[in-house]
Amino acid sequence: KRPKLIAGNWKMNTTVSEGLKTLDSLLVGLSQMTPKAQVAVAPPFTHLSDFQKKLKGTSICLAAQNVSDKLNGAYTGEVSVFMLKELGVKKVIIAHSERRQYYGETNDSALEKIKVVLKHEIYPIYCVGESLEDRESGHHFEVVEEQITSVLYKLSEEKLPKITIAYEPVWAIGTGKTATPEQADEMHAFIRDVIGKRFGDDLGVQMQILYGGSVNAANAASLLAMPHIDGALVGGASLKPEEFLSIIKAAS
Ligand code: 13P
Repeated sequence: KRPKLIAGNWKMNTTVSEGLKTLDSLLVGLSQMTPKAQVAVAPPFTHLSDFQKKLKGTSICLAAQNVSDKLNGAYTGEVSVFMLKELGVKKVIIAHSERRQYYGETNDSALEKIKVVLKHEIYPIYCVGESLEDRESGHHFEVVEEQITSVLYKLSEEKLPKITIAYEPVWAIGTGKTATPEQADEMHAFIRDVIGKRFGDDLGVQMQILYGGSVNAANAASLLAMPHIDGALVGGASLKPEEFLSIIKAAS
Protein backbone atom coordinates (compact mmCIF):
# COMPACT_ATOMS: atom_id res chain seq x y z
CA LYS A 1 0.00 0.00 0.00
CA ARG A 2 1.32 3.42 -0.92
CA PRO A 3 1.90 5.92 1.91
CA LYS A 4 -0.29 9.02 1.95
CA LEU A 5 1.14 12.52 2.05
CA ILE A 6 -0.64 15.77 2.80
CA ALA A 7 1.60 18.69 1.87
CA GLY A 8 0.85 22.37 2.40
CA ASN A 9 2.22 24.73 -0.22
CA TRP A 10 2.11 28.12 1.43
CA LYS A 11 3.19 29.91 -1.77
CA MET A 12 4.19 33.57 -1.19
CA ASN A 13 2.09 34.02 1.93
CA THR A 14 2.82 35.12 5.51
CA THR A 15 5.79 36.93 6.99
CA VAL A 16 8.01 34.83 9.26
CA SER A 17 6.22 35.98 12.42
CA GLU A 18 2.79 35.32 10.91
CA GLY A 19 3.96 31.96 9.61
CA LEU A 20 5.26 30.90 13.01
CA LYS A 21 1.82 31.59 14.52
CA THR A 22 0.15 29.47 11.86
CA LEU A 23 2.69 26.71 12.40
CA ASP A 24 2.13 26.81 16.17
CA SER A 25 -1.62 26.30 15.75
CA LEU A 26 -0.98 23.47 13.36
CA LEU A 27 1.41 21.79 15.80
CA VAL A 28 -1.10 22.09 18.66
CA GLY A 29 -3.76 20.46 16.49
CA LEU A 30 -1.44 17.71 15.33
CA SER A 31 -0.34 16.91 18.88
CA GLN A 32 -3.96 15.98 19.60
CA MET A 33 -4.22 13.44 16.82
CA THR A 34 -2.27 10.58 15.31
CA PRO A 35 -2.21 11.39 11.62
CA LYS A 36 -2.23 8.38 9.33
CA ALA A 37 -0.70 10.42 6.53
CA GLN A 38 2.72 11.98 6.43
CA VAL A 39 2.40 15.75 6.75
CA ALA A 40 4.68 18.28 5.04
CA VAL A 41 4.76 22.07 5.00
CA ALA A 42 6.44 24.16 2.33
CA PRO A 43 6.71 27.74 3.60
CA PRO A 44 8.65 30.52 1.84
CA PHE A 45 12.48 30.24 1.98
CA THR A 46 12.69 32.98 4.61
CA HIS A 47 10.79 30.79 7.09
CA LEU A 48 12.83 27.62 6.77
CA SER A 49 15.39 28.29 9.49
CA ASP A 50 12.80 29.07 12.19
CA PHE A 51 10.55 26.26 11.01
CA GLN A 52 13.39 23.75 11.24
CA LYS A 53 13.77 24.58 14.95
CA LYS A 54 10.03 24.29 15.60
CA LEU A 55 9.70 21.02 13.74
CA LYS A 56 12.58 19.29 15.49
CA GLY A 57 11.25 16.19 17.19
CA THR A 58 7.92 16.29 15.36
CA SER A 59 6.95 14.05 12.47
CA ILE A 60 6.23 16.98 10.13
CA CYS A 61 8.43 17.12 7.10
CA LEU A 62 9.92 20.46 6.07
CA ALA A 63 9.68 21.19 2.34
CA ALA A 64 10.70 24.05 0.05
CA GLN A 65 8.78 25.51 -2.88
CA ASN A 66 11.65 25.74 -5.34
CA VAL A 67 15.38 25.13 -5.71
CA SER A 68 18.11 26.15 -8.13
CA ASP A 69 19.40 23.70 -10.69
CA LYS A 70 22.90 25.15 -10.03
CA LEU A 71 24.99 24.18 -7.04
CA ASN A 72 26.58 27.55 -6.21
CA GLY A 73 28.07 30.64 -7.78
CA ALA A 74 26.95 33.78 -9.57
CA TYR A 75 23.19 33.10 -9.79
CA THR A 76 21.62 36.11 -8.14
CA GLY A 77 18.43 35.37 -6.26
CA GLU A 78 18.73 31.59 -6.40
CA VAL A 79 18.77 29.11 -3.51
CA SER A 80 20.81 25.92 -3.77
CA VAL A 81 20.16 22.38 -2.66
CA PHE A 82 22.99 22.66 -0.08
CA MET A 83 21.34 25.69 1.48
CA LEU A 84 18.06 23.79 1.77
CA LYS A 85 19.74 20.70 3.12
CA GLU A 86 21.42 22.61 5.93
CA LEU A 87 18.01 23.90 7.00
CA GLY A 88 16.58 20.40 7.30
CA VAL A 89 14.54 20.49 4.11
CA LYS A 90 13.56 16.96 3.07
CA LYS A 91 11.30 17.59 0.09
CA VAL A 92 11.05 20.26 -2.58
CA ILE A 93 8.24 21.20 -4.94
CA ILE A 94 9.53 21.33 -8.51
CA ALA A 95 7.94 22.94 -11.57
CA HIS A 96 4.75 24.08 -9.87
CA SER A 97 2.43 25.47 -12.53
CA GLU A 98 2.95 28.98 -11.13
CA ARG A 99 6.71 28.57 -11.72
CA ARG A 100 5.98 27.32 -15.23
CA GLN A 101 3.50 30.13 -15.92
CA TYR A 102 5.22 33.16 -14.38
CA TYR A 103 8.93 32.26 -14.20
CA GLY A 104 9.56 30.43 -17.42
CA GLU A 105 10.16 26.99 -15.96
CA THR A 106 9.92 24.12 -18.39
CA ASN A 107 10.06 20.36 -18.48
CA ASP A 108 13.80 20.71 -19.21
CA SER A 109 14.50 22.88 -16.19
CA ALA A 110 12.39 20.54 -14.06
CA LEU A 111 14.56 17.62 -15.13
CA GLU A 112 17.74 19.48 -14.15
CA LYS A 113 16.32 20.38 -10.76
CA ILE A 114 15.12 16.84 -10.09
CA LYS A 115 18.56 15.45 -10.92
CA VAL A 116 20.29 17.92 -8.62
CA VAL A 117 18.06 17.33 -5.62
CA LEU A 118 18.08 13.55 -5.94
CA LYS A 119 21.86 13.58 -6.01
CA HIS A 120 21.76 15.35 -2.66
CA GLU A 121 19.03 13.25 -1.09
CA ILE A 122 16.19 15.71 -1.13
CA TYR A 123 12.95 14.28 -2.48
CA PRO A 124 11.22 16.10 -5.32
CA ILE A 125 7.49 16.68 -5.61
CA TYR A 126 7.21 17.06 -9.37
CA CYS A 127 4.14 19.02 -10.50
CA VAL A 128 2.25 18.34 -13.70
CA GLY A 129 -1.16 19.39 -14.96
CA GLU A 130 -3.01 20.80 -17.91
CA SER A 131 -4.50 24.26 -18.50
CA LEU A 132 -8.21 24.90 -18.95
CA GLU A 133 -7.65 25.30 -22.67
CA ASP A 134 -5.89 21.91 -22.83
CA ARG A 135 -8.78 20.25 -21.04
CA GLU A 136 -11.50 21.93 -23.05
CA SER A 137 -9.81 20.98 -26.30
CA GLY A 138 -9.38 17.40 -25.11
CA HIS A 139 -5.57 17.58 -24.95
CA HIS A 140 -5.18 17.04 -21.21
CA PHE A 141 -3.81 13.51 -21.42
CA GLU A 142 -1.31 14.50 -24.10
CA VAL A 143 -0.01 17.47 -22.11
CA VAL A 144 0.45 15.49 -18.93
CA GLU A 145 2.03 12.61 -20.85
CA GLU A 146 4.59 15.02 -22.26
CA GLN A 147 5.31 16.48 -18.81
CA ILE A 148 5.93 12.95 -17.54
CA THR A 149 7.86 11.46 -20.45
CA SER A 150 10.12 14.42 -21.17
CA VAL A 151 11.23 14.49 -17.53
CA LEU A 152 10.81 11.16 -15.77
CA TYR A 153 11.68 8.97 -18.77
CA LYS A 154 15.12 10.61 -18.72
CA LEU A 155 15.90 9.28 -15.25
CA SER A 156 17.13 5.85 -14.35
CA GLU A 157 14.64 3.42 -12.92
CA GLU A 158 15.99 3.39 -9.37
CA LYS A 159 15.34 7.12 -9.06
CA LEU A 160 11.61 6.88 -9.69
CA PRO A 161 10.49 5.64 -6.26
CA LYS A 162 12.14 8.70 -4.70
CA ILE A 163 9.87 11.04 -6.63
CA THR A 164 6.38 12.16 -5.71
CA ILE A 165 4.21 13.40 -8.57
CA ALA A 166 1.59 16.08 -7.95
CA TYR A 167 -1.20 16.30 -10.50
CA GLU A 168 -2.49 19.85 -10.34
CA PRO A 169 -4.81 20.87 -13.16
CA VAL A 170 -4.11 24.58 -13.63
CA TRP A 171 -7.83 25.37 -13.92
CA ALA A 172 -8.38 24.00 -10.41
CA ILE A 173 -5.63 25.96 -8.67
CA GLY A 174 -6.88 28.78 -6.48
CA THR A 175 -10.15 28.87 -8.39
CA GLY A 176 -12.36 26.96 -5.98
CA LYS A 177 -13.10 24.67 -8.90
CA THR A 178 -11.81 21.21 -7.96
CA ALA A 179 -11.40 18.37 -10.38
CA THR A 180 -14.04 15.78 -9.56
CA PRO A 181 -12.66 12.75 -7.74
CA GLU A 182 -13.28 10.77 -10.96
CA GLN A 183 -11.42 13.28 -13.17
CA ALA A 184 -8.45 13.31 -10.80
CA ASP A 185 -8.39 9.55 -10.38
CA GLU A 186 -8.59 9.01 -14.12
CA MET A 187 -5.53 11.19 -14.66
CA HIS A 188 -3.63 9.53 -11.81
CA ALA A 189 -4.34 6.12 -13.33
CA PHE A 190 -3.17 7.43 -16.70
CA ILE A 191 0.08 8.70 -15.15
CA ARG A 192 0.67 5.23 -13.65
CA ASP A 193 0.19 3.73 -17.12
CA VAL A 194 2.65 6.18 -18.68
CA ILE A 195 5.26 5.34 -16.01
CA GLY A 196 4.44 1.66 -16.42
CA LYS A 197 5.03 1.75 -20.18
CA ARG A 198 8.62 2.71 -19.68
CA PHE A 199 9.58 1.29 -16.30
CA GLY A 200 7.16 -1.60 -15.84
CA ASP A 201 3.74 -1.76 -14.22
CA ASP A 202 5.12 -2.38 -10.73
CA LEU A 203 6.79 0.99 -10.70
CA GLY A 204 3.69 2.62 -12.14
CA VAL A 205 1.67 1.21 -9.29
CA GLN A 206 4.31 2.18 -6.74
CA MET A 207 4.53 5.91 -7.59
CA GLN A 208 3.12 8.29 -5.01
CA ILE A 209 0.75 10.68 -6.82
CA LEU A 210 -0.86 13.63 -5.04
CA TYR A 211 -3.78 15.69 -6.25
CA GLY A 212 -3.69 19.48 -5.97
CA GLY A 213 -6.15 22.22 -6.87
CA SER A 214 -8.72 23.72 -4.49
CA VAL A 215 -8.50 20.87 -2.00
CA ASN A 216 -10.39 21.86 1.15
CA ALA A 217 -12.00 20.37 4.24
CA ALA A 218 -15.23 19.71 2.36
CA ASN A 219 -13.86 17.87 -0.66
CA ALA A 220 -10.73 16.17 0.74
CA ALA A 221 -12.36 12.93 1.88
CA SER A 222 -13.94 12.16 -1.48
CA LEU A 223 -10.72 12.88 -3.38
CA LEU A 224 -8.54 10.93 -0.95
CA ALA A 225 -10.86 7.94 -1.08
CA MET A 226 -10.04 7.37 -4.76
CA PRO A 227 -7.80 4.36 -5.45
CA HIS A 228 -5.07 6.23 -7.36
CA ILE A 229 -4.90 9.36 -5.17
CA ASP A 230 -2.17 9.15 -2.54
CA GLY A 231 -2.56 12.50 -0.89
CA ALA A 232 -2.92 16.18 -1.57
CA LEU A 233 -0.84 19.25 -2.32
CA VAL A 234 -2.85 21.96 -0.64
CA GLY A 235 -2.50 25.69 -1.31
CA GLY A 236 -4.96 28.14 0.24
CA ALA A 237 -6.45 25.73 2.76
CA SER A 238 -3.01 24.86 4.18
CA LEU A 239 -2.77 28.37 5.63
CA LYS A 240 -5.82 27.77 7.81
CA PRO A 241 -4.74 25.32 10.52
CA GLU A 242 -8.26 24.08 11.30
CA GLU A 243 -8.96 23.37 7.66
CA PHE A 244 -5.55 21.81 7.00
CA LEU A 245 -6.06 19.56 10.04
CA SER A 246 -9.41 18.37 8.68
CA ILE A 247 -7.73 17.53 5.38
CA ILE A 248 -5.09 15.56 7.27
CA LYS A 249 -7.85 13.75 9.17
CA ALA A 250 -9.56 12.89 5.90
CA ALA A 251 -6.49 10.94 4.80
CA SER A 252 -7.03 7.62 6.47
P1 13P B 1 -5.04 25.82 -4.03
O1 13P B 1 -5.22 24.69 -3.03
O2 13P B 1 -5.01 27.17 -3.37
O3 13P B 1 -5.97 25.71 -5.18
O4 13P B 1 -3.56 25.63 -4.63
C1 13P B 1 -3.18 24.39 -5.07
C2 13P B 1 -1.73 24.40 -5.33
O5 13P B 1 -1.27 25.03 -6.26
C3 13P B 1 -0.86 23.63 -4.43
O6 13P B 1 0.44 23.56 -4.92
